[in-house]
Amino acid sequence: MIRLIGSENAGVGLPAAMDLLRRGGSAVDAVEIAIRAVEANAEDHSVGLGGFPNILGEVELDAGMMDGRDRTSGAVAALKGYLHPISLARLVMERIPHVFLVGDGAARFAREMGAEPAELLTAPAREAWARRLEQDLAPRKLEEVANLPDLWRWVEIATDPQRTHGTVNVVARDAQGHICAGVSTSGWAWKYPGRVGDSPIAGAGFYADDRYGAAACTGTGEMAIRAATAHSVIYAMRMGATLLDAGTQAMVDLNDLGGRYLAGMNFVAMDRDGHHAGFSSYEKASYAHMDASMDAPELLPRTHVTIEQRWDRRNLD
Ligand code: ASP
Repeated sequence: MIRLIGSENAGVGLPAAMDLLRRGGSAVDAVEIAIRAVEANAEDHSVGLGGFPNILGEVELDAGMMDGRDRTSGAVAALKGYLHPISLARLVMERIPHVFLVGDGAARFAREMGAEPAELLTAPAREAWARRLEQDLAPRKLEEVANLPDLWRWVEIATDPQRTHGTVNVVARDAQGHICAGVSTSGWAWKYPGRVGDSPIAGAGFYADDRYGAAACTGTGEMAIRAATAHSVIYAMRMGATLLDAGTQAMVDLNDLGGRYLAGMNFVAMDRDGHHAGFSSYEKASYAHMDASMDAPELLPRTHVTIEQRWDRRNLD
């Protein structure tokens, strides 16, 4: 049974991806086309064009995907100046022996692949950045931010758990029963330059294995990296857990993390037969779902599992 699930904001890309699956397209094609639509959506401030920038006002994009047929994977991170990191992640997966390219190397690869350079910082995103920084950096001037010798302190702004956050993820299952998971993000708004979250990291932000299922995360990326969250969900199913138990265990494991910075997490997951679920530490959260019988995606409730928020902000004191 062909099927798509993803974060709520993936909805704009699911109908085109479903058309493709109906015509016999692969799960990898479906994930790429769905995520490209979100990357091109300037209204979405957590992904691609219009994404909120880092603390210096530069948009840095991360994306990754895994093909469940053989767990081949590709990713790019801290990529500046190119609109479709998910397509570059796919090209890394398919064209070169590496799995993950970052920064200048990722941009060079984008050029070699013929990707069009693009200005990603939109006027609304720039205004939001300037407003946010002026509030916290006063009386320093915005132009001085790049030269701050203690930018590391100011990044507490970025790690405010009430921050603007978001990411798009999609899990697709095609007519052959193959599964693919993909994620794309501009990461934490106002993050430290070069900061990379879970989204482009196989096993943390996404994982897909036809034999057991797939999962993809949005939320506090540092936590999903530490707990290898997407892989944890699939590993629990491999060990015999149901989808519901596997997802719940992975959330509980996040809650068990120590340290000074714990906040929210969401993920979507699918088992090898196409059963699906969403999980969130936020109440009343939903995820997008579409199958072949539907003209438009629907939003379904995520299973709520509490993660106790612990946020010890001290660098600005
Ligand atoms: N997980 C993303 C990251 O850490 C952000 C998010 O989903 O809110 O970059």
